[in-house]
Amino acid sequence: MKVSVDEWLCAGHGLCEAAAPDVFEVNDEGIADVTDPNPAEALWPAVREGARLCPADAVLIDEDDA
Ligand code: SF4
Repeated sequence: MKVSVDEWLCAGHGLCEAAAPDVFEVNDEGIADVTDPNPAEALWPAVREGARLCPADAVLIDEDDA
């Protein structure tokens, strides 16, 4: 899994960070940074939940990138 955030879409709601704090962190500019772009498999459900919750559809997940 490869995770990224579209910084143009991200509005800093922080729901991704709430779902997966080991992978997302909203920075001082109100944009979510991906602190772990290749998260361990154990974190995948939380990352998917963060993407599902994002009101801006800004979380991008490439499921095929191992
Ligand atoms: S939930 Fe979406 S809009 Fe909010 S900080 Fe995360 S990526 Fe950005």
